[in-house]
Amino acid sequence: MEKSIFKPFLTVVVLMVIASLALAFTVDVELVNKPGVVMSLPDSIGDWVGNELRFCHNEACYSTNVLQGQYYIRDLELPDICPDCGESLSTMSWAEYDALPKDTEFVKSAFTNSAGERVFASIVLSGKERNSIHRPQRCLKGQGNSIVNEHMIEVPMEGREPLKVAVIEVERIYKTPEGSQTYYSYYAYWFVGQDRETPDHYARMFWLGWDRVVRSVAHRWAYIAVSGQREPEGREYEMEIADFIQAVYPSIIAENSSL
Ligand SMILES: [Zn+2]
Repeated sequence: MEKSIFKPFLTVVVLMVIASLALAFTVDVELVNKPGVVMSLPDSIGDWVGNELRFCHNEACYSTNVLQGQYYIRDLELPDICPDCGESLSTMSWAEYDALPKDTEFVKSAFTNSAGERVFASIVLSGKERNSIHRPQRCLKGQGNSIVNEHMIEVPMEGREPLKVAVIEVERIYKTPEGSQTYYSYYAYWFVGQDRETPDHYARMFWLGWDRVVRSVAHRWAYIAVSGQREPEGREYEMEIADFIQAVYPSIIAENSSL
C-alpha cells in the first residue's frame, strides 16, 4: 500500500534530477566574471615572506636549465623578463600553459618563515572552460608521487566557521648517487567559487551544475593549494597548514565575495 503512494513521487523526483542534469550541460548561462579570489599572493604575511615564481616558455630555457625555466622573482633584475634568453616570463610553466585552456590564470609563490619552514602556495583560476581545474590526485601521480593517505582538516578561522581543507600525504622517491631518497610532503587544497567554498572535487562539480540550473550562474572556480615537507610519521605538519592558511586567507579572498 505504502509503495503505491510513494511511487509517483519517486518518479517525479527521478525525472526532475534527469531534467536538471540535462539542463546543466545545455543551458547557456551568464559567466560570473567576479572570481571569489584575488589573483595575487602577498609579498609577506606575518612571519611569512613570499617569493613568487615565474616561468620561461622558451624551449631552450625549460628543457636545458636545471630549474626547468623556473625563476624566483626576488632573484630577477626585471620581474617579468627571463635572465637567460630575454623573453617575457609567465606565471605558469610551459607544461601547464600547454595543457590548460588559455584563459586559465595562475599565481604561485614560495613562503618561508623565521623557523625555516617553507610552503608553496598556488591559486589556479578557471576561465570559461570547465577543464581548467583537475583533480589534484591526477596531477600529483603524473609528477611521480605516491599518495599515502588522504583526509580532511578543519582550520579554525576568526569570526566564522572553520575552513574545511583536503589534505593528501605524498611521498616521492629520488635516485641520488648515494642511493634512493624519499621526500615526504603534504598537499592541502580547497576550491572557491563566487560564494561557495568546498574541499571536495565532487561537491564542486555538484555546485557547478546546481548553480547553472537553479541560479543561472557559472562560477569562475578557483583552486587554492598549499604544500610543504612533512616528517615520515605523524601529523605535526597540520599546524603549519593551519598557521599559513589563517595568515594568507584574508588577503586572497575577494572583498566582493559573499563567503
Ligand atoms: Zn628564457
